[in-house]
Amino acid sequence: MVDRNSTRASDPPRPGGVGRVEAWFLPLLLATTVLFAGAGRAPEAGSPAGEAAPPRSVILLIADGMGPQQLGLHLDVADALGRETAVERAYRVGRTSTVRTGSANSPVTDSAASATAMATGRDTDNGRVAVDPTGAPLTTCLEDAVRTGRRAGIVTTTRLTHATPASFCAHVPDRDLENEIAGQMLEQGIDILLGGGAVHFLGGLGGQDLGGRIRAAGYTLVRSRAELDAAPRKGPLLGLFHGDNLPYLVDRDGGEGEPLHVPGLPEMTRAALERLEGADGSLLIIEAGRIDHAGHANDAGALLGEMREFDATLDLLLDHIELHPEVALIVTADHETGGLCLTYRPGRLPTAEDLRALDGVMRSVPARPTGAVDLAEATAIYGQARLPFVAESAWGWNAPGLLRSSERFVSFGSQGHSATPITLFHIGAGAPLPSLMTHADLGARLREWMSIPLPSGGAR
Ligand SMILES: [Zn+2]
Repeated sequence: MVDRNSTRASDPPRPGGVGRVEAWFLPLLLATTVLFAGAGRAPEAGSPAGEAAPPRSVILLIADGMGPQQLGLHLDVADALGRETAVERAYRVGRTSTVRTGSANSPVTDSAASATAMATGRDTDNGRVAVDPTGAPLTTCLEDAVRTGRRAGIVTTTRLTHATPASFCAHVPDRDLENEIAGQMLEQGIDILLGGGAVHFLGGLGGQDLGGRIRAAGYTLVRSRAELDAAPRKGPLLGLFHGDNLPYLVDRDGGEGEPLHVPGLPEMTRAALERLEGADGSLLIIEAGRIDHAGHANDAGALLGEMREFDATLDLLLDHIELHPEVALIVTADHETGGLCLTYRPGRLPTAEDLRALDGVMRSVPARPTGAVDLAEATAIYGQARLPFVAESAWGWNAPGLLRSSERFVSFGSQGHSATPITLFHIGAGAPLPSLMTHADLGARLREWMSIPLPSGGAR
């Protein structure tokens, strides 16, 4: 079902909407102590990194809401399970930078402003989608890529019309104008569009029916994993696998009532790579979009599921880069969400067993509106006495998630985004990025790369 409040009620402050800021900052106690592991590490000998030729093709993998804390927890859980991670592989073969986050009107960005900076090289206000603070459109790297004859794709676990993917291919003053975003998206000549948000393309629940425009633009429409598998390898492809965001991984793998026919991020990424591989230049934007939502919900179990999905996607992209050293792979986040940390409490330290339990979570915790959960109810449902470091003031709509996470020593300082600097990996082609940078610095580089004419004059 489409539950729009589940992701939007928790979005960060907009211009003129700063009333909730204070409440978010109250519990932000521990989130600022973070580890920037591996920043600036040199690539291993023999790795493709270090090539300075400008890349003909770029793959940008954005893990929405993934700060260094989320990366660290993912690695700790993998250690507890003896599991290899693609994140460690990326550290071995790539360069890393630290990216300071923030928008034109706040040190705490939202996905729209952050993705706009990555797409255009320009900072804007929170809530704006590829327009400047006055509302004037800003050209995106995806538009550059299409103009220079490259092929283009967008793959996401959120609605395709959500702020992050939208900022690469639509221009609206407010991220909530998702019907408008869908219409613009279909006009951009994008070869591959895979994700959720079907209501904004096919109608229902406040959406719109763009069936005629989908056909006019030549898209083959697929609605399930099976249809994606069977789709033609050539021609524009539009995959709409859910009315809203795609379900969390933990809910897709056996959760009640959620469709098992939804493809995962690695499957969608593979489908996009197969179709873009033959082109002599391309831009592929991939978003692991729901790390952010699990952070807003303070649900560490769901968050780790989304991190596994991200990691599996990164693994196949690293395989791809080994075969295609002319491609630049950039892996980063737009901001951190939740002020997450793994901590301890007096007299008890977290153990590997706690981490394995987090990894074994099979369902996301349903969010409840403020006031709908009280301590007695939550204790009855989740079976643990209230923990000392869960302050009364932190209890809100995400109380069940916070309580479950706290049982395993994962604490959240916020229900929203934090200003924590995040990590960027650069693997493959292209001159090195600065070791300390901004999203606008990345956007400027992407626009530069995607503006370079192809030797062939373009394959489109
Ligand atoms: Zn968010």
